[in-house]
Parts: sequence; structure tokens; C-alpha cells
Amino acid sequence: MKLLRVHRSGDRVLESGIYSVLHSTPHMLIEHQFNFEGGHFRPCRICPLGVLYRLKTRCAPAALTNFRATALASLLDFVARHNRLLETW
Ligand SMILES: [Zn+2]
Repeated sequence: MKLLRVHRSGDRVLESGIYSVLHSTPHMLIEHQFNFEGGHFRPCRICPLGVLYRLKTRCAPAALTNFRATALASLLDFVARHNRLLETW
């Protein structure tokens, strides 16, 4: 059985990633928030019972690397196309 680890506002963030945020007072829809390891889950001034956080997606360094590689490839492709356009202009 997979354990659902739920954290409360004020707890220390042990794992960087995207967290689902559930307010104890229904004044907001469920939102997703990025939290960095070592920080604290943010409280809410409106919710007296606090806020619950559940890890949705771990921050995977490999995914970020892939994202950077993809962004760089797109940029290089854009520059190459731009240069070709200038040559034909
Ligand atoms: Zn709230």
C-alpha cells in the first residue's frame, strides 16, 4: 500500500517538488505549489486550521536537465532557421 504523506503548514520541506495544496477553509481551489527542500510549508492567514500539502511530483534533476536540453535545442534550431532566413533575404 502506498502511503500518502501529508504535511502541514509550518512543517519543514524534506523533498523538493510540486505539492497539492488543500486549505482547511474552502476559500481556494486546490492549487499546486513548488516547494524547495529545507524550506517550510507556508501557512494561510485565512485558514485557522492550517493548510495540508501533499507531494504530487518529485523534483527530478534528470527531468530538469532534459528540459534544459530541449530548450537549448529549440533555441539553436531557431537561430539556425533565422540565419537561413537572413541568407535568403
Ligand atoms: Zn487558506
